[in-house]
Amino acid sequence: MASMDSTDEKKIALVTGASRGIGVEIAAALVNDGFYVVGTATSASGADAISERLADNGAGMVLRVDDPASIEAAVKQLQQDHGHPAVVVHNAGVTRDNLMLRMSDDEWTSVIDTNLTSVYRLTKPLLRAMMKSRWGRVINVSSVVAQMGNPGQSNYVASKAGMEGFTRSLAAELGSRNITVNAVAPGFVDTDMTDALTDDQRSAMLERVALGRMAAPAEVAAVVSFLASDSAGYITGETIAVNGGLYMS
Ligand code: NAP
Repeated sequence: MASMDSTDEKKIALVTGASRGIGVEIAAALVNDGFYVVGTATSASGADAISERLADNGAGMVLRVDDPASIEAAVKQLQQDHGHPAVVVHNAGVTRDNLMLRMSDDEWTSVIDTNLTSVYRLTKPLLRAMMKSRWGRVINVSSVVAQMGNPGQSNYVASKAGMEGFTRSLAAELGSRNITVNAVAPGFVDTDMTDALTDDQRSAMLERVALGRMAAPAEVAAVVSFLASDSAGYITGETIAVNGGLYMS
């Protein structure tokens, strides 16, 4: 059982990138499941909006996952204000697409830092309490491209493939403590991230999706919600695809 105080005996779930897109729906689904949800945004105004949205069922917090000092401060604040999370959902992520020949060191490093190194940095300080309570869920939001590959996204694909490998290794380390570690790999989801695509890119992608449409963010959140539940207690080290048949492995 997670620690109590402001959470009124609810288990705490930490969701990164809860200000927009898929993260908003993950936070809402976990509130619906009875968790006290701490959602993060990169700005104070984003964090305030999360607090307002979650009302008594959660709170917003500022966190930049690519900044080790911000992670340290946020973990401290989280533990002081709310307690120890039983669930952490690593959802925050960015793309900075470019063909390999044109990719800058900054495009490479910023995507790896934000999408992958962050998962190492933020998971580590939360594990001790999960291990102590003998119940925990680490859920990583990956992408279909981790398995499929995608031209112009070698940085992003490397970060998500790394995340899936991390998922399997950590699952093997933590299984004996009743902590599961899984990933969810969405396909083409209707959020700000995919808004950046041109109409041509969008229709080319949709032609390859068996279901012929983008996913709604709530359809990804539903799988995160399941993985966080007791019903998913015997699933670990897995990556669950939510891609509408874009890529069937
Ligand atoms: P989105 O709408 O672009 O939202 C990104 C979220 O990440 C925002 O909450 C943003 O916070 C946060 N964020 C960005 N940089 C951050 C940083 N340095 N530190 C902390 N938080 C940061 O993205 P989305 O489409 O919902 O994607 C969510 C996850 O799903 C990502 O991991 C993405 O790779 C994955 N995914 C998305 C799709 C898709 O089609 N959309 C497909 C496969 C996988 P602010 O609002 O404060 O900027």
